[in-house]
Amino acid sequence: MLKAYKFRIYPNEEQKVYLAKTFGCTRFVYNKMLADRIKSYEENKELDIKTMKYPAPAQYKNEFEWLKEVDSLALANAQMNLDKAYKNFFRNKSIGFPKFKKKTNTNNYTTNNQNGTVYIENSHIKLPKLKSMIKIKQHRQFDGLIKSCTVSQVPSGKYYISILVDCENIELPKTDKKVGVDLGIKEFAITSDGEIFSNPKHLKKSEKRLAKLQKDLSRKQKGSNNRKKARIKVSRLHEKIANQRKDMLHKVSTQLINENQVIVIEDLKVSNMIKNHKLAKSIADVSWSEFRTMLEYKSKWYGREIIIAPSNYASSQLCSNCGNQSNQTKDLSCRTYICPVCGMIMDRDINASKNLLKLAM
Ligand SMILES: [Zn+2]
Repeated sequence: MLKAYKFRIYPNEEQKVYLAKTFGCTRFVYNKMLADRIKSYEENKELDIKTMKYPAPAQYKNEFEWLKEVDSLALANAQMNLDKAYKNFFRNKSIGFPKFKKKTNTNNYTTNNQNGTVYIENSHIKLPKLKSMIKIKQHRQFDGLIKSCTVSQVPSGKYYISILVDCENIELPKTDKKVGVDLGIKEFAITSDGEIFSNPKHLKKSEKRLAKLQKDLSRKQKGSNNRKKARIKVSRLHEKIANQRKDMLHKVSTQLINENQVIVIEDLKVSNMIKNHKLAKSIADVSWSEFRTMLEYKSKWYGREIIIAPSNYASSQLCSNCGNQSNQTKDLSCRTYICPVCGMIMDRDINASKNLLKLAM
């Protein structure tokens, strides 16, 4: 099974120059190949990708000598990406014809590990062609063979590497435990065992600051230097929040997967009904769908089961004790479920997660 790990890397000045060159060369090769293909189509009016012969990146190297300075696997991957874009287009024309790559704020290139040319040692990663090793902050260990990696530079200027690793399946020992998980805005998640996973304080703090920075940005004059500076600040904080959030999602999903054989969560579209808390809501939305994705792939890795409640399942309106349905909790400020039939009194979110758990029985 392939797993992807993303880490921040800290290239020095010399390495930054090399990375910039590689970003540029892969973009150049991609565009050059695309231009040649378009030209060859105009000349031959033949678009059969099976019979057409296109030049490979290596054939450009005599004409454009500087291509020799970068990793040839990065160029080969650019060709593969173009081939993929072509195939997608021929499979489904609505996807659109491959476009030229513009010079944008986000740069990346992909390379492969051939015969151990990519490895991590003493908090540094070795990449093909680059003699020195780049400092890497590896916050998560992995076992397995590195297949490929993608180096990227995001708009704020930071560098990341996404490493694809071939791992063995590691099934966890089976357990009888099942759990229902209710996702919310106030708390991130509450389980049918009564466990509360709060949004971390530092994350809440960053989100508050983001709202302020975005306001600052909107006040700056268009095209001004100050606006540029404000925009960098906003994108830096966006990255920080994304990382803090991912970290939390990994921790919660790993804990739930470790402890339970079956996990039931609600169909997240249900939450679209919540209209207030615009910023908090949009961030929660992203978290929920990422969280679901993590649970789904981790359950496959570790031999667990995820159940998604049907979207019409009124987990917050049912009494988890007697099954009576009452609409008192439609009012979101109503934090306690009081059953008019059996008299049960329970925290609304715990009641909801207990109802979710029933779907696993
Ligand atoms: Zn009841």
